Amino acid sequence: MTMTFANLALAPLLLQALAAEGYTSPTPIQAQSIPMLLQGRDMLGMAQTGTGKTAAFALPLLHRLAVNPRPAPKGGARVLVLAPTRELVSQIAAGFETFGRHLQPRVITIFGGVSQFHQVNALKEGVDIIVAAPGRLLDLIDQGLCDLSGLEALVLDEADQMLDMGFAKPIERIVATLPKDRHTLLFSATMPKSIAALAESLLHDPVKVEIAPPSTTVDRIEQSVMFLDAAHKKAALLALLQTPEIGQAVVFTLQKNIANEVCAFISEAGITAEALHGNKSQGQRERALDAFRAGTVQVLVATDIAARGIDVDTVTHVFNHDLPSLPESYVHRIGRTGRAGRSGFAITLCDAEQRAWLHDVEREIGRALTVQADHQWHSEDARHSTMRAPVLGGGPVKQIKPPKEPRERKVWTEEEKLAARRAAKVA
Ligand code: AMP
Repeated sequence: MTMTFANLALAPLLLQALAAEGYTSPTPIQAQSIPMLLQGRDMLGMAQTGTGKTAAFALPLLHRLAVNPRPAPKGGARVLVLAPTRELVSQIAAGFETFGRHLQPRVITIFGGVSQFHQVNALKEGVDIIVAAPGRLLDLIDQGLCDLSGLEALVLDEADQMLDMGFAKPIERIVATLPKDRHTLLFSATMPKSIAALAESLLHDPVKVEIAPPSTTVDRIEQSVMFLDAAHKKAALLALLQTPEIGQAVVFTLQKNIANEVCAFISEAGITAEALHGNKSQGQRERALDAFRAGTVQVLVATDIAARGIDVDTVTHVFNHDLPSLPESYVHRIGRTGRAGRSGFAITLCDAEQRAWLHDVEREIGRALTVQADHQWHSEDARHSTMRAPVLGGGPVKQIKPPKEPRERKVWTEEEKLAARRAAKVA
C-alpha cells in the first residue's frame, strides 16, 4: 500500500494545502519523521536538502499550532527554526507559509544584512514561528528585543553548516534563553563529532532518522569531469555554456572573487549571469535569485554557502568551475539540478591542483566520474597530477607549487641599468 499524507493523521487544513501543492505521498524522511514528531518526540535527522526535510519538520509543527491554538508569547514565538543562511531562512519560512496557508500562522524571518526595524516590530506582538539565522537573532536577544522564554519547539536545520560557519557559540547562547521543557529537532547532512555532541546536549531521547543522500536525485544526474589547465577553465566553461542543450545553469566557484571574475567573463560573452556570494547584499541576492527563477537570468555563479537553498526546478546543468574543498559539498552542489523528477548534468572542471579534491569526491560518492577527454583543453598532466590539494586559509587560495628551479642571473646592459635607475627615481 502506498503511504499517503492522510495516513499520517495531519490536520485536514494541512492536507488541503499539500493537495494544492501537488504532494501526493510523503518522501521517506517525511514518512519516518512525521508520526514521531506528532507524538512530540525529539529527533536527530541526518538528511540534506532535496529529501523533503523542510516539510518533514514544518508539517508536524504546524499541526501542533493548529490543534493547540494559543496566543503567541509577546516579544517571542511558539516555534523557532535556526538555519545557516538568509536564503535557507527565507526558503523555510516560505515552506511554513505554503503548507500553513489555511492556518495563517504568523511567520517572520530574522537575519542580518538588513535593517532590524521590521523584524523588531513584527516581534512586539509575538509570532507563531520565527525562522532565523543565529547571529542576528542573538543580537536581538542581547538588545532585549526578543524573549524566547515561552518557546514550545526548536529546530536546528543544517546544523553542520551552522557550526562550520562559526555559529556554535551563538547557538549555545540562544538555547540558554529557551525553556528546558521544549520539543527539539536537529537536522544535519553530516554527523561529525561536534554535531553528535550538540545533539547530545540538546535532544532528549531522540528518534534517529537517517536518509541517505538523495541518491535517486543524484543517480538521475549525468556526472562527468574535464581535466584541463587552470588557465583554460573560463574559456572551457564559456564554450560549455554556449552549447544549445543548456537551459539554466549554476556554476560553482571556490571563492567570491572567482565567482565575480567568472560572472564578468561570461557576461561579456553575452550570457545573462549573476554572481551569488556572501559579499552581496540581501537585496542583491534576492534580486538575482528572483531573476533566475523567472528565467531572465540564465546562469548563477555561486560559492557553496550562497548556493545552499537554491531550489529552482529548471536547472539543467551544474558546472563546477572549481572542485569543492569539502567532498560532501559536491553532492549538495549537483543536487541543484535533476530536481522534481527531471534529469540533469553535472560537469566538473579539474586542474592539476584540485585533482586531490576530485579523489575525495569520488571516494565520497563511491564511484569515478566519467572523463570527457574529447576537447581542445584536455590535459593528461591534470588527470594524473599528484599535487597536494590547495590549503585554504582566510585569504586567497595558497598555491602549493613545486620548488622553482634556481633562475639564471640576469646580466644587465648599461642601458637597462640607466632605465631602472630613472624608473626608481620617478617612483
Ligand atoms: P527540501 O529537502 O525540503 O529542500 O525539499 C526538496 C524539494 O522537494 C522541494 O522542491 C519540495 O517542494 C519538494 N517536496 C518535498 N516534499 C515533497 C513531497 N512529499 N512530494 C513532492 N515534492 C516534495
